[in-house]
Amino acid sequence: MVTLAKLHTFIEKGHRVTVIGPSDYHYYSGMGPGMLGKTYSPADIRFATKHVVEKQGATFIRAKAVRVNPDKKIVTLDAGDSVPYDIISFNAGSYVPRLNLSEDAETIFSVKPIEKLLQAQAKILELTDGKKISIGILGGGPSSAEVAGNIWQLVHNAGRTMPDIRIFAGNRFMSRFPENVRSKVQRSLEKRGIEINSGEYVQSIAAKSITLTSGQSHSLDFVFLAMGVKPNPIFKNSGIPTGPDGGLEVNEFLQSTAYPEIFGGGDCIYFKKQPLDKVGVYAVRQNPVLFRNLMAALSGEALTPFDPGGDYLLIFNLGGGTGVLRKRWLLLEGKLAFIIKDAIDRKFMKKFQALED
Ligand SMILES: Cc1cc2nc3c(=O)[nH]c(=O)nc-3n(C[C@H](O)[C@H](O)[C@H](O)COP(=O)(O)OP(=O)(O)OC[C@H]3O[C@@H](n4cnc5c(N)ncnc54)[C@H](O)[C@@H]3O)c2cc1C
Repeated sequence: MVTLAKLHTFIEKGHRVTVIGPSDYHYYSGMGPGMLGKTYSPADIRFATKHVVEKQGATFIRAKAVRVNPDKKIVTLDAGDSVPYDIISFNAGSYVPRLNLSEDAETIFSVKPIEKLLQAQAKILELTDGKKISIGILGGGPSSAEVAGNIWQLVHNAGRTMPDIRIFAGNRFMSRFPENVRSKVQRSLEKRGIEINSGEYVQSIAAKSITLTSGQSHSLDFVFLAMGVKPNPIFKNSGIPTGPDGGLEVNEFLQSTAYPEIFGGGDCIYFKKQPLDKVGVYAVRQNPVLFRNLMAALSGEALTPFDPGGDYLLIFNLGGGTGVLRKRWLLLEGKLAFIIKDAIDRKFMKKFQALED
């Protein structure tokens, strides 16, 4: 986002800049579950990438980058054409593996890409219109908790028939988090009738049902996949060195360990020195370093190392205007936690949306 906001500084120095992305807008995932629950409109949570890029004199190409040839310094796009580069920055994020599911299954959605949550919202409202349905959320991390709480909010506020909402959490719900955070999130969801199934994994998914490792089957009218994310596969597909998770392996300068002209940040990288959680907090902390290093690489100046920093503020939007917040020893549950998250997220978006004017 910082580099996008400052593209004009590259152009003022005489460089040509091309931005490649599959949509004219970039959606902020931190507010995605809130959009699903109708706290936010799509316009509240998106940044007009194409407009801001072109306004600064750079070129925007609406496409997906599918492969890189690091020796020839060429990126290949999904339509087959290619774009040459001297220096490149990858910020292509992560995706939810869809197992063997077809892309067009109308009642199976992933928590990413964020823009698809809007289609999921419409489908849920259609299915809960006068009918009791059953919704399963596969995965037991924060995105699963946030999606569950916001489906509850969506249906509740729309006055539709509340579905059975069930989280299939795998071994343990929110297992990466301390017990006090875990139990508060769980209690908040269970208080509203959201069921959490743990102790076993989902073995297979069919159009209208899932089967667990115990052999037990559950029929579901709607499924959300929230089983964790994987870095964009572009690097693996291009034979560029990756970390164990498939992310672009980068050194302390956010630079490919094999190709000095390749940089990257956010969910699509593997920070070799210290593997990082896939949270937006790191993408945001990397922002200024990435910008500085792209500029330095073009002018032959020294690169700046990225320091991941310490503990970060965690806030989950659990729907119903409530949340759970944790920062070091501070733990908050309820309306105030959500109000703080809402204020931080809106401020973040406003800062970048101001560039659109
Ligand atoms: C539901 C949900 C809620 C979350 N909530 C929070 C939160 O509250 N706080 C927090 O810190 N983290 C949160 N996270 C994690 C956070 O979203 C990510 O860590 C963060 O978005 C990573 O930023 P990024 O820029 O790397 O990727 P993204 O934000 O995913 O952006 C990637 C961009 O690349 C584009 N792209 C994808 N493929 C290609 C391609 N092949 N070619 C070109 N462009 C491509 C995408 O369209 C997108 O615009 C949440 C995640 C999810 C799924």
